[in-house]
Amino acid sequence: MALIVHKYGGTSMGSTERIKNVAKRVAKWHDAGYQIVVVPSAMSGETNRLIGLAKELSDQPDPRELDMIASTGEQVSVGLLAIALQAIGKQAVSYAGWQVAINTDMSHTKARIASIDEVKVKRDLDAGKIVIITGFQGVNENGDITTLGRGGSDTSAVAVAAALKAQECLIFTDVDGVYTTDPRVVSEARRLKTVTFEEMLEMASLGSKVLQIRSVEFAGNYKMPTRVLSSLTDPLLPLEIEANSGTLISFEEDTHMEQATITGIAFNRDEAKITVFGVPDKPGIAFQILGPIADANIEVDMIIQNQSVEGKTDFTFTVPRNEFNKAMDVLSNGVKQHIQATGVIGDAKVSKVSVVGVGMRSHVGIASQMFKTLAEEGINIQMISTSEIKISVLIDEKYMELAVRALHKAFGMENT
Ligand code: ADP
Ligand code: ASP
Ligand code: MG
Repeated sequence: MALIVHKYGGTSMGSTERIKNVAKRVAKWHDAGYQIVVVPSAMSGETNRLIGLAKELSDQPDPRELDMIASTGEQVSVGLLAIALQAIGKQAVSYAGWQVAINTDMSHTKARIASIDEVKVKRDLDAGKIVIITGFQGVNENGDITTLGRGGSDTSAVAVAAALKAQECLIFTDVDGVYTTDPRVVSEARRLKTVTFEEMLEMASLGSKVLQIRSVEFAGNYKMPTRVLSSLTDPLLPLEIEANSGTLISFEEDTHMEQATITGIAFNRDEAKITVFGVPDKPGIAFQILGPIADANIEVDMIIQNQSVEGKTDFTFTVPRNEFNKAMDVLSNGVKQHIQATGVIGDAKVSKVSVVGVGMRSHVGIASQMFKTLAEEGINIQMISTSEIKISVLIDEKYMELAVRALHKAFGMENT
């Protein structure tokens, strides 16, 4: 019997009314003869509330305890959904991550899934039960609860689907698919029927929060068919229609070759830029600046080093905004003196806007079109980075939405 994994996000689980709808939708699939595993998120706002409570008590709460607290939102969700399913006559059983078990590495608040024991889940499925597993959480070798990073329920769902060799993983959310850009920012954004795995990976890594990046990595590594679709339609929508709705992540490389050069625009508001200036231009400097940043577990994204003038240069890079103060501390307390730099300056009010598309491989002029569009809007580009299928620019955060709208229009994305 074919197995399907359903994932429901926070909005989809946002009230008992919504949970009743989730139960009806899940029951519909089960009645059609599928084995079903459901991976829900915490009710919307709940994870923020829980983390907020911890932060009321400490600026830097112990990550182990933070995971203990943040993971409880999903535990409530699975129990509520099991009760809702039982109330409409279905056999359903809920499990926390440690009960399955979903085994992770040792890092708290952004743990990675290492393996999933599928025996218990398979046994329940074979007994006709609907199995509900907490998203977002796992357990490490010490038996401590871990969480997978914000938005991590997507990753739980795709990883569970891969471990159980499911036929498909359906990510039900509050939009009806993956759009050319966030439809909440550009109302003309258009839904994509398919998006290539590579493009989805870029979009997720560049800030489109519709899927957590690690879920896309799992989908790619295990070639797991993954579809993003709406949980807000009529739960009794005919299954044949629902099964073909939304956006399918495709593993065929050239799906878009004949179509648009640009598939999507992603943006990330959570950026910060740091410049170490007056740095001696000699071997080892990049390492001496970025080594201590890496040692502090801070991820670096864009990097530029200028040509040197009279043996001195400037070195600029970006870090996640929530790590900005920590990175500035690392540089100001030691690194600056050590490398004899003139100074360190930072700007935490920057955003990154990226255009993504596999079509870029076979088209020229995308970068110049992008830069021209931004110039016409009077938007200054602070940094640029490119790969084969994306171009990213760093700009002042106050122009972020304007830039996304202008680029969406300039590349004709509303009607491609
Ligand atoms: P869930 O709680 O279901 O996990 P999320 O809020 O994490 O939902 O992700 C869905 C949201 O992602 C949408 O409401 C939308 O605002 C945002 N989003 C960002 N980029 C895109 C995009 N390209 N296509 C669709 N949604 C996007
Ligand atoms: N509840 C977690 C969060 O808010 C995980 C998720 O929703 O995917 O980040
Ligand atoms: Mg999400």
